[in-house]
Amino acid sequence: MVNTELIPIPALSDNYIWMVSHNGHAVVVDPGQSAPVAAMLDQHNLVLDAILLTHHHADHVGGAIALQQRTGAAVYGPASETLPVCDHRLAEGDTVQLPGVGLTLNVLDIPGHTAGHIAYYGQSATGKPLVFCGDTLFAAGCGRLFEGTPTQMVNSLGKLQALPADTLVCCGHEYTLANLRWALQVEPGNLALQQRWEAMSQLRSEGVPTLPSTIDAEIQTNPFFRTSQAAVSNAASRYAGKPLDSAVAVFACLREWKNNFK
Ligand code: ZN
Ligand code: FE
Repeated sequence: MVNTELIPIPALSDNYIWMVSHNGHAVVVDPGQSAPVAAMLDQHNLVLDAILLTHHHADHVGGAIALQQRTGAAVYGPASETLPVCDHRLAEGDTVQLPGVGLTLNVLDIPGHTAGHIAYYGQSATGKPLVFCGDTLFAAGCGRLFEGTPTQMVNSLGKLQALPADTLVCCGHEYTLANLRWALQVEPGNLALQQRWEAMSQLRSEGVPTLPSTIDAEIQTNPFFRTSQAAVSNAASRYAGKPLDSAVAVFACLREWKNNFK
């Protein structure tokens, strides 16, 4: 691995641990387990420089202590959450310099799924923008509101939606097909959504990750990014059985709809 690579390492049942590697160095995001990361480091002879955490859930932090003990890598995480290990506590406005892998990342506060959830946004050495958004934004979906309000989540998703259209979206789970199946109920007439369903179904049938996504793909197909589209807000109103008069109300209805969707 001489060039920069961005790899989703499958972990647990449907998590991805993101790895960026460059010239023999690597960083990982949200290691819910240590073993799959250790195997990659050994296989490709990589030095782990840093472990980045987006939020405190066990499926994102469970491997952090073991990986730090094994590699000595520095651990970065959200300032306001309780984490098993954290050397650098971060909040919006902070910058993480990772020269070993050619990354400079800016921290965004994106509360809603958890109260202190953060995202890491920056440019890789290849020049492509990318964002590690944990369980806040998924392909065609978003995280459940365990510790936040709909208003907080709408604001957090708005920060992500405002990133450049070609930003690679590196999320924490392979939930894409289940999310798309629901999104097609919300917006059956969306051609981009139909095409995405076909393309992603093909990838999954081959066992290939559907991620990273892009901000542009989410703007075209993710109902949670499309609350201002008439087709989406009308569908939400029909589901709620009443008019919904704000973006937050439409969002809250969509989140409830998705929670109940089987
Ligand atoms: Zn989570
Ligand atoms: Fe998770």
